[in-house]
Amino acid sequence: MSLIVQKFGGSSVANAERVMNVAKIVTDTYAKGNDVVVVVSAQGDTTDDLIAKQMEINPDASRREKDMLLAAGEQISIALLAMAIEKLGYHATSLLGWQAGFETSSSHTSARIKRVDASRIQDELDQNNIVVVAGFQGISRHGDITTLGRGGSDTSAVAIAAAMHADLCQIYTDVEGVYTADPRKVENAKKLKEISYDEMLELATLGAQVLNNRSVEMAKKYGIELEVLSSMAKASGTIVKEKPRMEKMLISGVAKDTDIARISVIGVPNYPGLAFKMFSKLSKKKINIDIILQSIGHDGKKDISFTVAKDRGPEAVEVLEDYMVNTLGAKEVLYDDEVAKISIVGAGMESHSGVATKMFEALYDAQINIRMISTSEIKISVLIDAADADKAVKAIHSKFFD
Ligand code: ADP
Ligand code: ASP
Ligand code: MG
Repeated sequence: MSLIVQKFGGSSVANAERVMNVAKIVTDTYAKGNDVVVVVSAQGDTTDDLIAKQMEINPDASRREKDMLLAAGEQISIALLAMAIEKLGYHATSLLGWQAGFETSSSHTSARIKRVDASRIQDELDQNNIVVVAGFQGISRHGDITTLGRGGSDTSAVAIAAAMHADLCQIYTDVEGVYTADPRKVENAKKLKEISYDEMLELATLGAQVLNNRSVEMAKKYGIELEVLSSMAKASGTIVKEKPRMEKMLISGVAKDTDIARISVIGVPNYPGLAFKMFSKLSKKKINIDIILQSIGHDGKKDISFTVAKDRGPEAVEVLEDYMVNTLGAKEVLYDDEVAKISIVGAGMESHSGVATKMFEALYDAQINIRMISTSEIKISVLIDAADADKAVKAIHSKFFD
């Protein structure tokens, strides 16, 4: 007998018919003699709808109360799925995050999983029940309900698989696997048979939302192989693992991130320690910085530009206006959130030259202006105008894959 963890995202349980479809997949797996733990997300757009309700009442609501609200979405879907499984003649027990043993940090709305005490899940399995766990949520040491950040159910599933040494962790979603680009945006995107943890981690971090990046990080740490597949079509999916058998592809995918903003601090005094002072102000506020560009100094002044997550942008600008302009005498702070980061990821680029040139050529052919560039061993990212984002992804994808 094997222990299988199956995770179903919001669109897979969006309505009654889809919930029944999931119950069928789950009970088929159970009927083959496996122990099954199922992790589910909130139905369809439920999480977005709950956020909209919060915004109507209080846009500045405390993060504790936001978590209390958002966790409700997953409570609905676990109960409905357990009922659907009962209807098919099997026994199921639904469990909220805290009941399933998810202990997290207390950083509400982006809590980290500290420990999964899977004893209750194990008890239920021992009684031959299918266990249905609410993804995306846990409990802090203060006894408060927490959530893991958007897309966090993937991480819940991997955490259970790791804690229980599961034989298989399947992430069911609304596409057939991981593709070379978002298959909803790029018509001839290709499904990957396999992808390494490192490449998947980069793709997920750079905007491919098919897997949450923390789930990939955790899968790599605990050596959990993931299978990403469709809950709606019977087709083989994508395996995420340490060393794919396939030859390293030059690049394995193109990703787009539009949730970023660019900040430029203009006319910064040009002396040592300035960048340190500026970025430590931001890191004290836990504002993460991404691509950084510093201009060549002239007349004792220089400009420093960088990108941040869009939702932290206004706060970063406030900090910098106060410190860099009012205290250290910089000229001004400019803010632009109509930008997008387009990235290519591939382990093959370590050993091949000319990959960046090819990417830049694709952008040149499409007449798209590059505003910033950053590279690492297995990725190249460019910052461009948001209006050009989809065009850029298509142009780059067809340069490498057509
Ligand atoms: P779920 O609700 O199942 O968690 P998500 O909406 O979070 O699903 O993620 C699946 C979506 O990710 C797909 O519908 C697809 O549009 C998008 N996506 C973006 N990039 C990729 C990619 N490279 N491969 C597959 N899907 C991708
Ligand atoms: N329901 C949560 C969200 O929409 C968690 C998830 O789907 O993974 O972000
Ligand atoms: Mg998701």
